[in-house]
Amino acid sequence: MDQQQIDTFRAQPVSAFSHLIDGKHVPASDGGTMDIISPIDGQVLTTTAKGTTADMEAAIASARAAFEDGRWAGQPPAARKKVLLKWADLIEANALELAVLGVRDNGTEIGMAIKAEPGSAAGTIRYYAEALDKIYGEIAPTSSDILGMIHKEPVGVVGAIIPWNFPMMIGAWKLGPALAMGNSVVLKPSETASLSLMRMCELALEAGLPSGVLNAVTGEGKVVGEAMGLSMDVDVIVFTGSGGTGRRLMEYAARSNMKRVYLELGGKSPNIVFADAPNLDEAAQVAAGGIFRNSGQVCVAGSRLLVEASIHDDFVAAVAKATVQMRVGDPLSMETHIGAVNSEVQLKANLRFVKTATSEGGKIALGGTQILQETGGYYMEPTIVTGVTRDATLTQKEVFGPVLGVTPFETEAKAIALANATVYGLAGAAWTSNLGRAHRMIRGVRTGVMHINTYGGADGTVPLGGVGQSGNGSDKSLHAIEKYVSLKTAWIKL
Ligand code: NAD
Repeated sequence: MDQQQIDTFRAQPVSAFSHLIDGKHVPASDGGTMDIISPIDGQVLTTTAKGTTADMEAAIASARAAFEDGRWAGQPPAARKKVLLKWADLIEANALELAVLGVRDNGTEIGMAIKAEPGSAAGTIRYYAEALDKIYGEIAPTSSDILGMIHKEPVGVVGAIIPWNFPMMIGAWKLGPALAMGNSVVLKPSETASLSLMRMCELALEAGLPSGVLNAVTGEGKVVGEAMGLSMDVDVIVFTGSGGTGRRLMEYAARSNMKRVYLELGGKSPNIVFADAPNLDEAAQVAAGGIFRNSGQVCVAGSRLLVEASIHDDFVAAVAKATVQMRVGDPLSMETHIGAVNSEVQLKANLRFVKTATSEGGKIALGGTQILQETGGYYMEPTIVTGVTRDATLTQKEVFGPVLGVTPFETEAKAIALANATVYGLAGAAWTSNLGRAHRMIRGVRTGVMHINTYGGADGTVPLGGVGQSGNGSDKSLHAIEKYVSLKTAWIKL
Protein backbone atom coordinates (compact mmCIF):
# COMPACT_ATOMS: atom_id res chain seq x y z
CA MET A 1 0.00 0.00 0.00
CA ASP A 2 1.37 3.43 -0.85
CA GLN A 3 -0.18 6.88 -0.76
CA GLN A 4 -0.23 7.20 -4.54
CA GLN A 5 -2.29 4.02 -4.97
CA ILE A 6 -4.70 5.18 -2.27
CA ASP A 7 -5.09 8.55 -3.97
CA THR A 8 -5.75 6.89 -7.32
CA PHE A 9 -8.66 4.92 -5.87
CA ARG A 10 -9.87 7.95 -3.94
CA ALA A 11 -10.12 9.95 -7.16
CA GLN A 12 -12.40 7.40 -8.82
CA PRO A 13 -16.09 8.33 -9.01
CA VAL A 14 -18.32 5.79 -7.26
CA SER A 15 -21.23 4.60 -9.36
CA ALA A 16 -24.67 4.07 -7.85
CA PHE A 17 -25.29 0.78 -6.00
CA SER A 18 -28.42 -1.33 -6.30
CA HIS A 19 -29.58 -4.48 -4.47
CA LEU A 20 -28.19 -7.90 -5.34
CA ILE A 21 -31.16 -10.22 -5.67
CA ASP A 22 -31.12 -13.61 -7.36
CA GLY A 23 -27.68 -12.91 -8.81
CA LYS A 24 -28.74 -9.64 -10.45
CA HIS A 25 -28.38 -5.94 -9.70
CA VAL A 26 -31.90 -4.72 -8.94
CA PRO A 27 -33.16 -1.20 -8.16
CA ALA A 28 -35.70 -0.56 -5.39
CA SER A 29 -39.21 -1.66 -6.40
CA ASP A 30 -40.39 1.96 -6.17
CA GLY A 31 -37.18 3.37 -7.72
CA GLY A 32 -36.13 4.99 -4.40
CA THR A 33 -32.49 5.82 -3.70
CA MET A 34 -30.52 7.07 -0.68
CA ASP A 35 -27.66 9.56 -0.76
CA ILE A 36 -24.45 8.19 0.73
CA ILE A 37 -22.59 10.96 2.54
CA SER A 38 -18.84 10.61 2.99
CA PRO A 39 -17.76 11.49 6.56
CA ILE A 40 -14.43 12.67 5.12
CA ASP A 41 -15.96 15.86 3.70
CA GLY A 42 -19.72 15.66 4.26
CA GLN A 43 -20.32 15.42 0.48
CA VAL A 44 -22.56 12.98 -1.38
CA LEU A 45 -20.36 10.11 -2.54
CA THR A 46 -22.96 8.08 -4.44
CA THR A 47 -26.42 6.58 -3.96
CA THR A 48 -27.73 3.15 -3.02
CA ALA A 49 -31.13 1.62 -3.56
CA LYS A 50 -33.54 2.54 -0.76
CA GLY A 51 -35.10 -0.85 -0.25
CA THR A 52 -38.78 -1.53 0.27
CA THR A 53 -40.52 -4.35 2.11
CA ALA A 54 -41.21 -5.90 -1.30
CA ASP A 55 -37.46 -5.84 -2.11
CA MET A 56 -36.65 -7.67 1.12
CA GLU A 57 -39.40 -10.21 0.45
CA ALA A 58 -38.03 -10.81 -3.05
CA ALA A 59 -34.53 -11.36 -1.65
CA ILE A 60 -35.84 -13.80 0.97
CA ALA A 61 -37.86 -15.67 -1.68
CA SER A 62 -34.73 -15.97 -3.80
CA ALA A 63 -32.69 -17.28 -0.86
CA ARG A 64 -35.45 -19.75 0.04
CA ALA A 65 -35.67 -21.10 -3.53
CA ALA A 66 -31.89 -21.46 -3.67
CA PHE A 67 -31.87 -23.35 -0.38
CA GLU A 68 -34.74 -25.67 -1.23
CA ASP A 69 -33.36 -26.82 -4.59
CA GLY A 70 -29.97 -27.57 -3.06
CA ARG A 71 -27.94 -25.62 -5.60
CA TRP A 72 -25.46 -24.77 -2.86
CA ALA A 73 -26.26 -26.94 0.17
CA GLY A 74 -26.39 -29.97 -2.13
CA GLN A 75 -22.94 -29.44 -3.60
CA PRO A 76 -20.08 -31.60 -2.33
CA PRO A 77 -18.10 -29.88 0.43
CA ALA A 78 -15.03 -29.71 -1.81
CA ALA A 79 -16.99 -27.73 -4.40
CA ARG A 80 -18.25 -25.23 -1.82
CA LYS A 81 -14.77 -24.91 -0.42
CA LYS A 82 -13.37 -24.09 -3.86
CA VAL A 83 -15.84 -21.25 -4.39
CA LEU A 84 -15.24 -19.76 -0.95
CA LEU A 85 -11.46 -19.95 -1.33
CA LYS A 86 -11.74 -18.21 -4.70
CA TRP A 87 -13.89 -15.54 -3.06
CA ALA A 88 -11.22 -14.96 -0.40
CA ASP A 89 -8.59 -14.66 -3.15
CA LEU A 90 -10.71 -12.08 -5.00
CA ILE A 91 -11.17 -10.03 -1.82
CA GLU A 92 -7.43 -10.07 -1.31
CA ALA A 93 -6.70 -9.21 -4.93
CA ASN A 94 -8.99 -6.16 -4.66
CA ALA A 95 -8.05 -5.31 -1.08
CA LEU A 96 -6.90 -1.73 -1.46
CA GLU A 97 -9.75 -0.73 -3.76
CA LEU A 98 -12.25 -2.25 -1.30
CA ALA A 99 -10.56 -0.61 1.68
CA VAL A 100 -10.53 2.85 0.08
CA LEU A 101 -14.18 2.51 -0.95
CA GLY A 102 -15.06 1.50 2.60
CA VAL A 103 -13.10 4.39 4.12
CA ARG A 104 -14.80 6.90 1.84
CA ASP A 105 -18.08 5.50 3.11
CA ASN A 106 -17.40 5.10 6.86
CA GLY A 107 -14.30 7.16 7.74
CA THR A 108 -12.04 4.54 9.37
CA GLU A 109 -8.34 5.42 9.04
CA ILE A 110 -6.86 3.49 6.11
CA GLY A 111 -4.03 1.90 8.12
CA MET A 112 -6.59 0.13 10.27
CA ALA A 113 -9.14 -0.43 7.48
CA ILE A 114 -6.75 -2.28 5.17
CA LYS A 115 -6.07 -4.91 7.86
CA ALA A 116 -9.40 -4.99 9.64
CA GLU A 117 -11.61 -4.89 6.57
CA PRO A 118 -10.51 -6.76 3.39
CA GLY A 119 -7.56 -8.35 5.21
CA SER A 120 -9.68 -9.76 7.97
CA ALA A 121 -12.64 -10.59 5.70
CA ALA A 122 -10.48 -12.66 3.32
CA GLY A 123 -8.93 -14.48 6.30
CA THR A 124 -12.34 -15.24 7.79
CA ILE A 125 -13.83 -16.58 4.53
CA ARG A 126 -10.74 -18.74 4.05
CA TYR A 127 -10.90 -20.03 7.64
CA TYR A 128 -14.47 -21.29 7.23
CA ALA A 129 -13.80 -22.60 3.72
CA GLU A 130 -11.01 -24.71 5.14
CA ALA A 131 -13.15 -25.81 8.09
CA LEU A 132 -16.23 -26.91 6.19
CA ASP A 133 -15.08 -30.45 5.39
CA LYS A 134 -13.76 -31.02 8.89
CA ILE A 135 -17.06 -30.64 10.71
CA TYR A 136 -18.35 -34.10 11.59
CA GLY A 137 -21.65 -35.38 12.94
CA GLU A 138 -21.70 -37.65 16.00
CA ILE A 139 -22.62 -41.18 17.00
CA ALA A 140 -24.35 -41.27 20.37
CA PRO A 141 -23.32 -43.77 23.10
CA THR A 142 -26.59 -45.75 22.94
CA SER A 143 -27.38 -49.35 23.82
CA SER A 144 -26.24 -51.89 21.23
CA ASP A 145 -29.66 -52.36 19.56
CA ILE A 146 -29.84 -48.68 18.62
CA LEU A 147 -27.80 -46.39 16.38
CA GLY A 148 -28.18 -42.78 17.54
CA MET A 149 -26.73 -40.29 15.07
CA ILE A 150 -26.52 -36.52 15.34
CA HIS A 151 -26.46 -34.73 12.01
CA LYS A 152 -25.48 -31.09 11.61
CA GLU A 153 -27.72 -29.60 8.97
CA PRO A 154 -27.79 -26.09 7.52
CA VAL A 155 -30.55 -24.03 9.15
CA GLY A 156 -31.96 -22.69 5.85
CA VAL A 157 -32.27 -18.96 5.18
CA VAL A 158 -29.99 -16.77 7.30
CA GLY A 159 -30.71 -13.04 7.66
CA ALA A 160 -27.54 -11.09 8.47
CA ILE A 161 -27.76 -7.48 9.68
CA ILE A 162 -24.49 -5.55 9.82
CA PRO A 163 -23.38 -2.27 11.49
CA TRP A 164 -21.24 0.48 10.04
CA ASN A 165 -18.00 0.36 11.96
CA PHE A 166 -16.33 -2.64 10.24
CA PRO A 167 -18.77 -3.75 7.54
CA MET A 168 -16.53 -6.20 5.68
CA MET A 169 -14.97 -7.76 8.77
CA ILE A 170 -18.29 -8.23 10.56
CA GLY A 171 -20.05 -9.18 7.32
CA ALA A 172 -17.48 -11.96 6.80
CA TRP A 173 -17.94 -13.17 10.39
CA LYS A 174 -21.55 -13.98 9.43
CA LEU A 175 -21.22 -14.87 5.74
CA GLY A 176 -18.20 -17.19 6.15
CA PRO A 177 -19.74 -19.76 8.50
CA ALA A 178 -23.30 -19.33 7.13
CA LEU A 179 -22.27 -20.13 3.55
CA ALA A 180 -19.68 -22.74 4.54
CA MET A 181 -22.42 -24.77 6.25
CA GLY A 182 -24.66 -24.62 3.15
CA ASN A 183 -27.18 -21.96 4.14
CA SER A 184 -28.57 -19.26 1.86
CA VAL A 185 -28.21 -15.69 3.08
CA VAL A 186 -29.96 -12.34 2.85
CA LEU A 187 -27.66 -9.55 3.95
CA LYS A 188 -28.70 -6.12 5.16
CA PRO A 189 -25.74 -3.71 5.40
CA SER A 190 -25.87 -0.48 7.39
CA GLU A 191 -27.29 2.70 5.83
CA THR A 192 -24.03 4.52 6.54
CA ALA A 193 -21.51 1.87 5.42
CA SER A 194 -22.77 -0.47 2.74
CA LEU A 195 -20.54 0.08 -0.30
CA SER A 196 -17.50 -2.12 0.37
CA LEU A 197 -19.70 -4.92 1.70
CA MET A 198 -21.96 -4.76 -1.38
CA ARG A 199 -18.85 -4.91 -3.57
CA MET A 200 -17.61 -7.87 -1.55
CA CYS A 201 -20.92 -9.67 -2.23
CA GLU A 202 -20.49 -9.02 -5.96
CA LEU A 203 -17.10 -10.73 -5.74
CA ALA A 204 -18.79 -13.80 -4.23
CA LEU A 205 -20.87 -14.13 -7.38
CA GLU A 206 -17.72 -13.69 -9.49
CA ALA A 207 -16.13 -16.50 -7.49
CA GLY A 208 -18.94 -18.81 -8.57
CA LEU A 209 -21.48 -18.66 -5.73
CA PRO A 210 -24.76 -19.69 -7.41
CA SER A 211 -27.44 -17.01 -7.91
CA GLY A 212 -29.83 -16.59 -5.00
CA VAL A 213 -27.48 -18.08 -2.39
CA LEU A 214 -26.33 -14.63 -1.30
CA ASN A 215 -28.68 -11.68 -1.68
CA ALA A 216 -28.05 -8.18 -0.33
CA VAL A 217 -30.62 -5.44 0.19
CA THR A 218 -29.70 -1.86 1.09
CA GLY A 219 -32.02 0.58 2.80
CA GLU A 220 -33.30 1.69 6.16
CA GLY A 221 -33.23 -0.65 9.13
CA LYS A 222 -36.75 0.28 10.12
CA VAL A 223 -38.03 -0.76 6.68
CA VAL A 224 -35.96 -3.58 5.19
CA GLY A 225 -34.44 -4.70 8.51
CA GLU A 226 -37.88 -4.90 10.06
CA ALA A 227 -39.22 -6.82 7.04
CA MET A 228 -36.42 -9.33 7.51
CA GLY A 229 -37.08 -9.59 11.24
CA LEU A 230 -40.81 -10.18 10.71
CA SER A 231 -40.42 -12.62 7.83
CA MET A 232 -41.99 -16.05 8.21
CA ASP A 233 -39.37 -17.43 5.85
CA VAL A 234 -36.09 -16.44 7.54
CA ASP A 235 -34.87 -19.19 9.88
CA VAL A 236 -32.18 -17.36 11.81
CA ILE A 237 -31.12 -13.76 12.26
CA VAL A 238 -27.49 -12.95 13.02
CA PHE A 239 -27.10 -9.36 14.06
CA THR A 240 -24.35 -6.98 15.11
CA GLY A 241 -25.37 -3.54 16.25
CA SER A 242 -27.01 -1.64 19.07
CA GLY A 243 -28.98 -3.07 21.96
CA GLY A 244 -32.12 -1.19 20.92
CA THR A 245 -32.19 -2.87 17.52
CA GLY A 246 -31.31 -6.22 19.09
CA ARG A 247 -34.31 -5.93 21.38
CA ARG A 248 -36.56 -5.17 18.39
CA LEU A 249 -35.26 -8.20 16.51
CA MET A 250 -36.22 -10.44 19.44
CA GLU A 251 -39.71 -8.89 19.41
CA TYR A 252 -40.01 -9.41 15.63
CA ALA A 253 -39.08 -13.06 16.10
CA ALA A 254 -41.71 -13.47 18.81
CA ARG A 255 -44.33 -11.82 16.58
CA SER A 256 -43.48 -13.94 13.53
CA ASN A 257 -42.00 -17.43 13.27
CA MET A 258 -39.90 -17.53 16.48
CA LYS A 259 -36.74 -17.57 14.36
CA ARG A 260 -33.44 -17.96 16.17
CA VAL A 261 -31.90 -14.53 16.93
CA TYR A 262 -28.20 -14.14 17.70
CA LEU A 263 -27.07 -10.74 18.91
CA GLU A 264 -23.63 -9.12 19.05
CA LEU A 265 -24.24 -5.84 20.83
CA GLY A 266 -22.44 -2.95 22.44
CA GLY A 267 -20.05 -2.74 25.35
CA LYS A 268 -18.59 -0.49 28.00
CA SER A 269 -15.39 -2.38 28.36
CA PRO A 270 -13.15 -1.82 31.41
CA ASN A 271 -9.41 -1.54 30.93
CA ILE A 272 -8.02 -2.11 34.43
CA VAL A 273 -4.51 -0.96 35.22
CA PHE A 274 -2.79 -2.02 38.45
CA ALA A 275 0.32 -0.33 39.81
CA ASP A 276 2.17 -3.65 39.32
CA ALA A 277 1.60 -3.68 35.53
CA PRO A 278 4.75 -5.00 33.83
CA ASN A 279 5.24 -1.86 31.74
CA LEU A 280 3.12 1.19 32.48
CA ASP A 281 4.33 3.13 29.42
CA GLU A 282 3.25 0.31 27.15
CA ALA A 283 -0.04 0.04 29.05
CA ALA A 284 -0.66 3.76 28.45
CA GLN A 285 0.11 3.50 24.73
CA VAL A 286 -2.15 0.48 24.31
CA ALA A 287 -4.92 2.07 26.40
CA ALA A 288 -4.93 5.09 24.05
CA GLY A 289 -5.04 2.89 20.93
CA GLY A 290 -7.62 0.62 22.55
CA ILE A 291 -10.15 3.43 22.78
CA PHE A 292 -9.23 5.96 20.10
CA ARG A 293 -8.52 3.94 16.94
CA ASN A 294 -11.40 4.21 14.48
CA SER A 295 -12.58 7.17 16.59
CA GLY A 296 -13.68 4.80 19.34
CA GLN A 297 -16.20 3.15 17.01
CA VAL A 298 -15.14 -0.33 18.02
CA CYS A 299 -17.47 -2.65 19.90
CA VAL A 300 -14.68 -3.87 22.19
CA ALA A 301 -13.19 -0.38 22.70
CA GLY A 302 -11.67 0.02 26.16
CA SER A 303 -13.89 2.97 26.97
CA ARG A 304 -13.57 2.78 30.76
CA LEU A 305 -10.09 3.17 32.19
CA LEU A 306 -9.98 1.90 35.78
CA VAL A 307 -6.66 2.89 37.37
CA GLU A 308 -5.22 1.98 40.75
CA ALA A 309 -5.40 5.18 42.78
CA SER A 310 -1.67 5.24 43.64
CA ILE A 311 -0.68 5.70 39.97
CA HIS A 312 -3.80 7.53 38.76
CA ASP A 313 -2.36 10.98 37.96
CA ASP A 314 0.86 9.74 36.36
CA PHE A 315 -0.95 7.12 34.32
CA VAL A 316 -3.61 9.52 33.03
CA ALA A 317 -0.79 11.89 32.03
CA ALA A 318 0.93 9.03 30.17
CA VAL A 319 -2.29 8.12 28.32
CA ALA A 320 -2.80 11.79 27.38
CA LYS A 321 0.81 11.98 26.15
CA ALA A 322 0.33 8.88 23.99
CA THR A 323 -2.98 10.27 22.69
CA VAL A 324 -1.66 13.65 21.55
CA GLN A 325 0.81 11.77 19.38
CA MET A 326 -2.10 10.23 17.46
CA ARG A 327 -2.92 12.37 14.46
CA VAL A 328 -6.62 12.96 13.74
CA GLY A 329 -7.55 13.78 10.17
CA ASP A 330 -8.06 12.62 6.60
CA PRO A 331 -8.66 8.88 6.96
CA LEU A 332 -7.15 8.26 3.53
CA SER A 333 -3.77 9.66 4.56
CA MET A 334 -1.34 6.98 5.67
CA GLU A 335 -0.14 9.37 8.38
CA THR A 336 -3.51 9.49 10.10
CA HIS A 337 -4.06 7.46 13.27
CA ILE A 338 -7.68 8.47 13.92
CA GLY A 339 -10.03 9.06 10.99
CA ALA A 340 -13.50 10.56 10.79
CA VAL A 341 -16.54 9.89 12.93
CA ASN A 342 -18.99 7.91 10.81
CA SER A 343 -21.81 10.46 10.55
CA GLU A 344 -22.97 13.85 11.70
CA VAL A 345 -25.57 12.16 13.90
CA GLN A 346 -22.87 10.13 15.64
CA LEU A 347 -20.60 13.18 16.06
CA LYS A 348 -23.38 15.17 17.71
CA ALA A 349 -24.20 12.25 20.01
CA ASN A 350 -20.51 12.03 21.05
CA LEU A 351 -20.42 15.75 21.88
CA ARG A 352 -23.61 15.43 23.93
CA PHE A 353 -21.97 12.65 25.98
CA VAL A 354 -19.03 14.97 26.77
CA LYS A 355 -21.41 17.70 27.89
CA THR A 356 -23.31 15.27 30.11
CA ALA A 357 -20.05 13.94 31.56
CA THR A 358 -18.93 17.41 32.68
CA SER A 359 -22.37 18.27 34.01
CA GLU A 360 -22.11 15.14 36.19
CA GLY A 361 -18.77 16.27 37.65
CA GLY A 362 -16.27 14.76 35.18
CA LYS A 363 -13.18 16.83 34.30
CA ILE A 364 -11.89 17.02 30.75
CA ALA A 365 -8.22 16.05 30.81
CA LEU A 366 -7.91 16.16 27.01
CA GLY A 367 -9.98 17.07 23.95
CA GLY A 368 -13.74 17.40 24.13
CA THR A 369 -14.58 19.22 20.91
CA GLN A 370 -15.28 18.88 17.21
CA ILE A 371 -12.30 19.75 14.98
CA LEU A 372 -11.45 20.20 11.29
CA GLN A 373 -14.85 21.76 10.53
CA GLU A 374 -13.29 23.42 7.47
CA THR A 375 -13.15 20.01 5.75
CA GLY A 376 -16.94 19.67 5.90
CA GLY A 377 -16.32 16.21 7.46
CA TYR A 378 -16.98 14.85 10.96
CA TYR A 379 -13.93 14.85 13.21
CA MET A 380 -13.56 14.87 16.95
CA GLU A 381 -10.62 15.25 19.29
CA PRO A 382 -9.84 12.14 21.29
CA THR A 383 -11.29 12.97 24.68
CA ILE A 384 -10.30 11.91 28.19
CA VAL A 385 -12.63 12.60 31.10
CA THR A 386 -11.44 11.97 34.67
CA GLY A 387 -13.44 11.72 37.87
CA VAL A 388 -16.09 9.50 36.30
CA THR A 389 -18.13 7.83 39.03
CA ARG A 390 -19.71 4.38 39.09
CA ASP A 391 -23.19 5.69 38.31
CA ALA A 392 -22.18 8.38 35.80
CA THR A 393 -23.58 8.24 32.28
CA LEU A 394 -20.06 7.74 30.98
CA THR A 395 -19.79 4.55 33.04
CA GLN A 396 -23.23 3.22 32.22
CA LYS A 397 -23.88 4.14 28.54
CA GLU A 398 -21.95 3.19 25.44
CA VAL A 399 -20.74 6.30 23.56
CA PHE A 400 -19.31 4.48 20.54
CA GLY A 401 -17.01 7.44 19.98
CA PRO A 402 -13.56 8.75 21.01
CA VAL A 403 -14.39 9.37 24.66
CA LEU A 404 -12.52 7.69 27.51
CA GLY A 405 -13.84 7.85 31.07
CA VAL A 406 -11.33 7.37 33.92
CA THR A 407 -12.18 6.05 37.39
CA PRO A 408 -9.70 5.32 40.20
CA PHE A 409 -9.91 2.24 42.46
CA GLU A 410 -8.11 1.17 45.63
CA THR A 411 -8.32 -2.62 45.78
CA GLU A 412 -8.63 -5.61 43.48
CA ALA A 413 -12.12 -6.32 44.82
CA LYS A 414 -13.20 -2.75 44.09
CA ALA A 415 -11.76 -2.98 40.59
CA ILE A 416 -13.83 -6.10 39.89
CA ALA A 417 -16.98 -4.51 41.35
CA LEU A 418 -16.49 -1.40 39.20
CA ALA A 419 -15.76 -3.48 36.11
CA ASN A 420 -19.01 -5.39 36.61
CA ALA A 421 -21.13 -2.32 37.39
CA THR A 422 -22.79 -2.07 33.96
CA VAL A 423 -25.37 -4.10 32.03
CA TYR A 424 -22.69 -4.92 29.45
CA GLY A 425 -20.11 -7.68 29.30
CA LEU A 426 -18.24 -7.63 26.02
CA ALA A 427 -14.50 -7.13 26.62
CA GLY A 428 -12.07 -6.08 29.30
CA ALA A 429 -8.40 -6.07 30.24
CA ALA A 430 -6.22 -6.20 33.30
CA TRP A 431 -2.59 -5.09 33.45
CA THR A 432 -0.62 -6.78 36.23
CA SER A 433 2.58 -8.77 36.83
CA ASN A 434 0.84 -10.89 39.44
CA LEU A 435 -0.20 -14.21 37.86
CA GLY A 436 -2.74 -15.01 40.56
CA ARG A 437 -4.33 -11.60 40.22
CA ALA A 438 -4.47 -11.96 36.43
CA HIS A 439 -6.43 -15.21 36.79
CA ARG A 440 -8.68 -13.70 39.45
CA MET A 441 -9.48 -10.87 37.03
CA ILE A 442 -10.23 -13.33 34.22
CA ARG A 443 -12.65 -15.15 36.53
CA GLY A 444 -14.06 -12.11 38.27
CA VAL A 445 -14.81 -9.72 35.43
CA ARG A 446 -17.94 -10.78 33.53
CA THR A 447 -17.08 -10.36 29.84
CA GLY A 448 -16.84 -12.39 26.66
CA VAL A 449 -13.13 -11.66 26.33
CA MET A 450 -10.59 -10.67 28.95
CA HIS A 451 -7.17 -9.44 27.82
CA ILE A 452 -4.15 -9.63 30.10
CA ASN A 453 -1.32 -7.14 29.58
CA THR A 454 -2.64 -6.21 26.13
CA TYR A 455 -5.82 -4.85 24.60
CA GLY A 456 -7.64 -6.03 21.46
CA GLY A 457 -6.25 -7.89 18.49
CA ALA A 458 -7.72 -11.33 19.26
CA ASP A 459 -7.68 -13.25 15.98
CA GLY A 460 -10.21 -15.53 14.26
CA THR A 461 -9.23 -18.64 16.23
CA VAL A 462 -11.10 -17.47 19.34
CA PRO A 463 -14.77 -16.52 19.77
CA LEU A 464 -16.02 -12.95 20.21
CA GLY A 465 -19.30 -12.72 22.04
CA GLY A 466 -20.82 -10.88 24.92
CA VAL A 467 -22.57 -11.71 28.16
CA GLY A 468 -25.35 -9.68 29.77
CA GLN A 469 -26.71 -7.04 27.39
CA SER A 470 -23.67 -7.34 25.12
CA GLY A 471 -25.36 -10.21 23.36
CA ASN A 472 -25.64 -13.95 22.96
CA GLY A 473 -23.86 -16.41 20.69
CA SER A 474 -20.50 -15.46 19.29
CA ASP A 475 -18.72 -14.70 16.05
CA LYS A 476 -15.35 -16.14 14.97
CA SER A 477 -13.70 -19.52 15.57
CA LEU A 478 -15.31 -22.93 15.06
CA HIS A 479 -17.82 -22.08 17.81
CA ALA A 480 -19.59 -19.63 15.46
CA ILE A 481 -20.63 -22.58 13.28
CA GLU A 482 -23.16 -23.62 15.94
CA LYS A 483 -25.35 -20.66 14.94
CA TYR A 484 -25.61 -21.86 11.34
CA VAL A 485 -26.52 -25.51 11.87
CA SER A 486 -29.46 -27.40 13.29
CA LEU A 487 -28.88 -30.66 15.11
CA LYS A 488 -30.95 -33.54 13.82
CA THR A 489 -31.13 -36.84 15.65
CA ALA A 490 -31.49 -40.10 13.77
CA TRP A 491 -32.66 -42.89 16.16
CA ILE A 492 -32.33 -46.20 14.39
CA LYS A 493 -33.50 -49.57 15.77
CA LEU A 494 -31.04 -52.17 14.59
P1 NAD B 1 -27.71 -0.12 14.81
O1 NAD B 1 -28.41 -1.07 15.72
O2 NAD B 1 -28.23 1.25 14.72
O3 NAD B 1 -27.72 -0.68 13.32
C1 NAD B 1 -27.19 -1.95 13.02
C2 NAD B 1 -27.94 -2.50 11.83
O4 NAD B 1 -29.29 -2.71 12.22
C3 NAD B 1 -27.95 -1.59 10.61
O5 NAD B 1 -27.80 -2.35 9.45
C4 NAD B 1 -29.35 -1.00 10.66
O6 NAD B 1 -29.87 -0.64 9.42
C5 NAD B 1 -30.13 -2.17 11.24
N1 NAD B 1 -31.40 -1.78 11.86
C6 NAD B 1 -31.72 -0.58 12.44
N2 NAD B 1 -33.01 -0.60 12.87
C7 NAD B 1 -33.50 -1.83 12.57
C8 NAD B 1 -34.76 -2.46 12.78
N3 NAD B 1 -35.77 -1.83 13.35
N4 NAD B 1 -34.90 -3.74 12.35
C9 NAD B 1 -33.87 -4.40 11.79
N5 NAD B 1 -32.67 -3.84 11.53
C10 NAD B 1 -32.48 -2.57 11.93
O7 NAD B 1 -26.18 -0.15 15.23
P2 NAD B 1 -24.98 0.70 14.56
O8 NAD B 1 -25.10 2.09 15.04
O9 NAD B 1 -24.92 0.41 13.10
O10 NAD B 1 -23.71 -0.02 15.21
C11 NAD B 1 -23.16 0.38 16.41
C12 NAD B 1 -23.45 -0.63 17.49
O11 NAD B 1 -22.98 -1.92 17.10
C13 NAD B 1 -22.74 -0.31 18.78
O12 NAD B 1 -23.60 -0.53 19.85
C14 NAD B 1 -21.61 -1.33 18.80
O13 NAD B 1 -21.08 -1.62 20.06
C15 NAD B 1 -22.24 -2.51 18.16
N6 NAD B 1 -21.22 -3.44 17.66
C16 NAD B 1 -21.07 -4.65 18.28
C17 NAD B 1 -20.11 -5.55 17.84
C18 NAD B 1 -19.93 -6.91 18.53
O14 NAD B 1 -19.26 -7.78 17.96
N7 NAD B 1 -20.50 -7.13 19.70
C19 NAD B 1 -19.31 -5.22 16.76
C20 NAD B 1 -19.48 -3.96 16.15
C21 NAD B 1 -20.46 -3.10 16.60
